[in-house]
Amino acid sequence: MNRICPVRYWLSAATAALLLTSAQAKADVCNDSEGVVLQVLGSGGPIADDARASYAYLVWIIGKSRVMIDAGGGAFLRFGEAAAEFSELDVIAISHFHTDHSADLVTLLKTGFFSARQRPLAVNGPDAGGPFPSLDDYLDSNIGRGNAYGYLSGYLDGTGGLVKLLPTTIDPSRRDSVQVFASEDGVIELTATGVPHGIVPAIAYRVTVGDYDIVFASDQNGNDDEFVAFAREADVLVMHMVVAEDAAGAMRALHAPPSRIGEIAARANAGKLVLSHFMSRSLQSLDQNIELVRENYRGEIIPAADLLCVAID
Ligand SMILES: [Zn+2]
Repeated sequence: MNRICPVRYWLSAATAALLLTSAQAKADVCNDSEGVVLQVLGSGGPIADDARASYAYLVWIIGKSRVMIDAGGGAFLRFGEAAAEFSELDVIAISHFHTDHSADLVTLLKTGFFSARQRPLAVNGPDAGGPFPSLDDYLDSNIGRGNAYGYLSGYLDGTGGLVKLLPTTIDPSRRDSVQVFASEDGVIELTATGVPHGIVPAIAYRVTVGDYDIVFASDQNGNDDEFVAFAREADVLVMHMVVAEDAAGAMRALHAPPSRIGEIAARANAGKLVLSHFMSRSLQSLDQNIELVRENYRGEIIPAADLLCVAID
């Protein structure tokens, strides 16, 4: 059952109180489940014209916010609105180092300083490629001693009252499925594969919790059939509908058109398809693009919204 929680963006003094009520309602719906719930933290892209946070997701497991996929700009705010807890996170997995997927990682680390967390935190991300850094280089350039936010360098060595990060770097050229994280209690397994996203090293993740699987496709052009195998039989497949059907050139090299998204979901036999990564320009043609997806995929299609919850059952 999918539960869509409305978000109010235009605040007056009178509606501010309503927003608090609304945010609490969302949190209650997402985290009071006895099962597995996917929550969209950010459903927007890199353009600030749509009142959406950039891309980020949580996976709630029996009421705990245990897995976070990506941390685009605005994820910090939505993380708090969702009543997520930094101390509950087992792993944060970054798909690639475009700002709309990663820029709020450091702000989340800072909020973690104020949490009760004492155990290390696993962090996953791609290896370097082109102008993009490896996960280790990204962390060092942000929070390495003497660098931009070096006052958080304790995350690299577990000093200064900060918990140690446990980075796992993933080779984006790999097209097989590789396990990149398993929780100590055996509840969560995270596997990964590289996906084609122009020159950008990019990783798709599959979160397995018992019998349930959620696949996060990341940004990708959909041209590599290996991803279909990676996503096979996912209960929920999350894909990004960024470009129109007639996209060409650089945009097509980065992103899959709607018909291709539908084809991938159908061939993977995904249970539900969550479409995300919207901006004003793509929202204008959302309905017609969903119809193009539907021509190839007969399952349930769910357009993402910030703070939306999708129960996995
Ligand atoms: Zn991207």
